[in-house]
Amino acid sequence: MSRPARVVIDRAALRHNYQLLRRLAGAARIMAVVKADAYGHGLLRVAKCLPDADAFAVVCLGEAEQLRAAGVRQAVVLLQGVYCVEDLERAAALGLDLVVHNRTQLDMLAARRPSLGKAAIWLKVDTGMHRLGFSPAELPAALASCKASQPGAAVRLMSHLATAHEPDHAMTRAQLQVFDGLCPDSDLARCIANSAALLTLPAACYQWVRPGLALYGVSPQASREGRDWGLRPVMRLESGLIAVRRLRAGEPVGYGADWRCPEDMPVGILAMGYADGYPRHAGSGAPILVNDRPCALLGRVSMDMLAVDLRACPEARVGDPALLWGRELPVERIARAAGAIPYELLCRVHKRLQFVDA
Ligand SMILES: *Cc1c(COP(=O)(O)O)cnc(C)c1O
Repeated sequence: MSRPARVVIDRAALRHNYQLLRRLAGAARIMAVVKADAYGHGLLRVAKCLPDADAFAVVCLGEAEQLRAAGVRQAVVLLQGVYCVEDLERAAALGLDLVVHNRTQLDMLAARRPSLGKAAIWLKVDTGMHRLGFSPAELPAALASCKASQPGAAVRLMSHLATAHEPDHAMTRAQLQVFDGLCPDSDLARCIANSAALLTLPAACYQWVRPGLALYGVSPQASREGRDWGLRPVMRLESGLIAVRRLRAGEPVGYGADWRCPEDMPVGILAMGYADGYPRHAGSGAPILVNDRPCALLGRVSMDMLAVDLRACPEARVGDPALLWGRELPVERIARAAGAIPYELLCRVHKRLQFVDA
C-alpha cells in the first residue's frame, strides 16, 4: 500500500455549498474565488464542478492561464490586476477581467490600450480597509481614465470588507455606507461581499458576490462552523497508522522529548506531518479521529509524521485510518488548536499528498 496520507475532495459537498450560496445571493451573480489552487482543493477540479458560476477569481496569471487552457469560458478575474505590461498583454489575450486598484495600472492601460474584448474592468475602491484601491475622492478621475483608454469596456466597482467575519461590526456598516455613496447617479455594477458578508448581510450582495471559504464548506466566523450555516466541508485530510507503540509511564515521544507518557499507554504514529500541511503549531491535545474515535495529538509534529494518543482506541493497529479534518472533525477546530485560521490550513495542504475525488 502507498503512503496513506491523502486528501479526499467531496464534489457533492461543493455543489451543495454552491447552490446554498446561490440562493443566498438572490439576483446577484457569483464570482467563485478559486485563488491559491482553490484554497488547496485543486483549481481545475473545483472549476469543473462549478460550470454555472458566473466568474472565477484568482490572483496569479498562471492560474487564469490554467483555467483558459482547460476550456473555462466564464469570466476570470485577476483580483490584484496585473503587475507589469507583459502581464497586461497576456491578460488581454486571454480575455481576463482586470481589477485596477492604483494609478500605475491605470497608466499601463492608458499607454497600451490593449483590446479587452468583453472583459470587464473592476475599479477597486478603498472603503476603509486601507489595503488596495482608490479613495472615494480619487474614484471619479480613475473612472474617467478607464473610460478614456477603454471606451468599450464594462467598468464595475469593487471593494473589500475588513470585518465582515465579526458579527455586527460597526466598521462593516461604515464601509457599506461609503460603498453605497460612490458614484450615486451611475448604474455601475458593484461587488463587495466575501463569504462572511454573503452569509450574514443580504444588503451587501449588490450585483455580484465573491465567496471563497464558504464554497469549501468552512465558516468565515471564528465562533461558528460550516454546518451552522448549512455548509458541508469539501476537504477531508486522511491518513493511517504506520506504527503503534506500547510505552511505559515517563517515556518521551518525539522531538525534544518533552512530551512524556503519564501512564503506560498505546501511542500511534500517523503518516502526516507539517510537510503535508498539518500545522506544526497544533499542540498536544489537538483532536484526531482514529477508527472514528476521538483521540489526540501528542508531542511535536514532525515533517512527515505525528504521534497520537491511542488510550481512547487501544485496539488500533498499523493500517487503521485516521481523520485529521473533514466532516466529522471540522477544520475550524484544528485551526483553533493551532492558533491559525482555516484559510491557512486549507491552502497549505501539500501537493505531495494523493488527491482523490469522492
Ligand atoms: C480571497 C478573497 C475573497 C474571498 O474571501 P472569503 O473570505 O474566502 O470568502 C474575496 N475577495 C477578495 C478580494 C479576496 O482576495
